[in-house]
Amino acid sequence: MRAAVMYGAGDVRVEDRPDPKIVEPTDAVVRTVAACVCGSDLWPYRSMPATDAGRPMGHEFLGVVEETGAEVTGLTAGDLVVAPFTYSDGTCDYCAKDLQISCRHGGRYGFDGVDGGQGEAVRVPWADGTLVKLPVAADSALVPSLLALSDVMTTGHHGAVTAGVRRGDTVLVVGDGAVGLCAVIAARRLGAERIVLAGRHEERTALGREFGATDVVAERGEEGVARVRELTGGVDKVIEAVGTRQALDTALGAVLDGGTVSRLGVPQYEEGPLGRAGFMRNITLTGGASPARAYIERLLPDVLDGTIDPGRVFDRTFPLDRTPDAYRAMADRQVLKALVRP
Ligand SMILES: [Zn+2]
Repeated sequence: MRAAVMYGAGDVRVEDRPDPKIVEPTDAVVRTVAACVCGSDLWPYRSMPATDAGRPMGHEFLGVVEETGAEVTGLTAGDLVVAPFTYSDGTCDYCAKDLQISCRHGGRYGFDGVDGGQGEAVRVPWADGTLVKLPVAADSALVPSLLALSDVMTTGHHGAVTAGVRRGDTVLVVGDGAVGLCAVIAARRLGAERIVLAGRHEERTALGREFGATDVVAERGEEGVARVRELTGGVDKVIEAVGTRQALDTALGAVLDGGTVSRLGVPQYEEGPLGRAGFMRNITLTGGASPARAYIERLLPDVLDGTIDPGRVFDRTFPLDRTPDAYRAMADRQVLKALVRP
């Protein structure tokens, strides 16, 4: 099969890889229908040391079950499924409390002999615990929005849930990337009345307004904080969807004492302001990696009936062989989020 492999910063290649086969009786092989490039794929794209081994890329995909292992009971060949961005057994104590991201037997695509999602097929471990069956056909117009459940939409939802967004709230979302825009959808869905989106890319903030943002703040740093405070008087709930120290500082600057900051962006900083200043302000710092598997089933009905359409974050589609161009276009901020079709 063909699949994307990263060999170092700026070096993504699409090459022939062995066709996935069932290894464990709990595996399924999924033939990919749609995959995509994640904002988090851009961190290694910018910084990964060169390696001869290469790393299969992609952790968001949707496809058709081709084959199942002997112990898989909930899926059969021909089922259309979406994969959360990590696999999980569905049976351990963490999975039982809907924290599948911490699954005792879980793992990441592209590591430990498991394929990446940016390829023609994937061997999915713990298929019953991981994959979610979709009640539509592979050529459905809903495929982009269903694919968004793999990561960006469920991650945005995690931000809104952990920030404690309730009906009537004012919420600040820092970051106009695909996750930030999905956090706007999620905050709106949970009833936020006023949603301030901090971002300076006009096409993206325009989409954010269509998703439910009521205000846009283009200023950054202290100016951005001042603007948010001028608009709102400060906010109780902030969703930080970038991962830089500057974005965290914006979040902490804009949040009111006693408020909550939920982090969704993978932190690109080692040190954080968790010292006395935060203590005195009674700020709750929450968020983290999303248990996507738990949220897919909760959000699925809203995607199926068109209440939310997170697939609009995909603004360009690339054939699998042009995956390197998809990375380049996203890294250059020409494309918000690239859909990849085998
Ligand atoms: Zn588990």
